[in-house]
Amino acid sequence: MIVGEQKSLEEILGLLGDAKKVLVAGCGTCVTVCFAGGEKEVGILSSALRMKSELDGHPIAVDEVTVQRQCEWEYIDPLKERLAEYDVVLSLACGIGVQAMNERFPNIITLPGINTTSLSLPVEQGVWEERCQACGDCVLGITFGICPIARCSKQLMNGPCGGSQNGVCEVDPSIPCAWQLIWDRANMFGQMERLLEVQPPKNWGQSRDGGPRKIVREDLRLTERE
Ligand code: SF4
Ligand code: SF4
Repeated sequence: MIVGEQKSLEEILGLLGDAKKVLVAGCGTCVTVCFAGGEKEVGILSSALRMKSELDGHPIAVDEVTVQRQCEWEYIDPLKERLAEYDVVLSLACGIGVQAMNERFPNIITLPGINTTSLSLPVEQGVWEERCQACGDCVLGITFGICPIARCSKQLMNGPCGGSQNGVCEVDPSIPCAWQLIWDRANMFGQMERLLEVQPPKNWGQSRDGGPRKIVREDLRLTERE
C-alpha cells in the first residue's frame, strides 16, 4: 500500500498561512489503512487545528470530509460544489490524491497534510516496511521474491556487497541484508546456481528518471462508436 506520515501541526499551520476557512479532506483507502489520513485522522487533525488556531488568536473554521479514494475523479467530483466556500483544502491523501485535487479543481489550492513515504507492507501492527520502489522492470522473478531495489541499501543486482554481517546490512544493522534473504530463499529451493548467473545491467529506462511514466491500455479506453 501507499504509506505516509502526517506532517507536524506547525508545518501544516505554516502551509495554511492566513486561510480562515479550510476543508480537511481525507482518503478512505491506503492512508486510512496506515492511519495517516482517514476519517479518524481527519477528525483529530481538524480538532487540533481549531484549538491551536484559536489559542494563537487566528481562529480557523475547519470542516471535514473523507472520500473513498482521492485519486479518482469519480470520488472527488462530488466535492466540487462545496469547494467555493473554502480558502484552501488540506488533503490527508497521498501525493497522488493531492495532485488529483489540484488538477480537477484548479481554482482552489489543495495543500498536502501528509508526507508520502513509500510502497510498504504492514509487517506487524504499527510497522510498515518498504517493499517496492516501482522501478518499472520487476526483478522479483530472479531474486526469489525479494526486492534488491527497495531492500538492499545499495540496490545491488548481482549479489551482496561483502559487508553483510550475521545476516544484517552493513549500512544499518536494523535492516536484514536483502542478499542474505535472497540467498536463503535460493538455498531453500535448492536453486543457488541461478544466483551465479551474472545479470545484465538493469533496464532503468522504465524507472523514475526521465519524467512521469504513463500506462495506456487501448483495450480499456472508452472510444467513440463509429
Ligand atoms: S524490482 Fe522493481 S517493481 Fe519489483 S518489487 Fe522491486 S522496485 Fe518494485
Ligand atoms: S549488506 Fe546486504 S543489503 Fe546491505 S548494502 Fe550490502 S548487500 Fe545490500
